[in-house]
Amino acid sequence: MCLDSITSTFLDLCHLIHAKGLVSGSGGNVSMRWGDQILITPSGRSLESLQGDDLVFLHSDGCFRCKDGGKPSQEWRMHLACYQRRDVNVVVHVHSTHAVAIACSLDADPDYAIPVYTPGYCVRVGRLPILPYAMAGSVELANQVGQVIQSRNSVMLANHGILTVGATVEAALNLTEEIEDEAKLHLLLGGHGRPLTQEQQKALRGGYH
Ligand SMILES: [Zn+2]
Repeated sequence: MCLDSITSTFLDLCHLIHAKGLVSGSGGNVSMRWGDQILITPSGRSLESLQGDDLVFLHSDGCFRCKDGGKPSQEWRMHLACYQRRDVNVVVHVHSTHAVAIACSLDADPDYAIPVYTPGYCVRVGRLPILPYAMAGSVELANQVGQVIQSRNSVMLANHGILTVGATVEAALNLTEEIEDEAKLHLLLGGHGRPLTQEQQKALRGGYH
């Protein structure tokens, strides 16, 4: 993909994530693989108003360049960790309200952060582990995220947010929305929900090809 085309796809994704209400203020960050570099959102900026010159090109050693003089998101290490562990092209990280509410909950299951209520969530997400709290931007958090992303497409970060990966923009964004919606559903049910049974989940996973 040429630079103009990837920049346009990248900006559309950032604007869409904001328009869908998955981020607010300068929260959240996004990255895409471009050859042996990573295109990533700048630190301290809202995804809503980003333009081409704001985007930061990041190398695997942490060196970066940005036309506008910006720095990469302070959470760049966890993005790099994902590309180093998996052959994915897009990483989306948001602090969406309902998912964060669950990430702050005392009684969330560390393996299944959100009970599985709906078929779509069952098939596309299912088990969503919660990582223990680690400071945003830390090497510790990056290592933990990289380890989970080695074998899963999504993870929840305690008291922080969620991160998803995908081969395409659509795949990573769909996953983010799916998790945020299931989190909202769980909160709306207020402890009176009826999750799908293990048998129902197994049948669903076997039935989708
Ligand atoms: Zn964050």
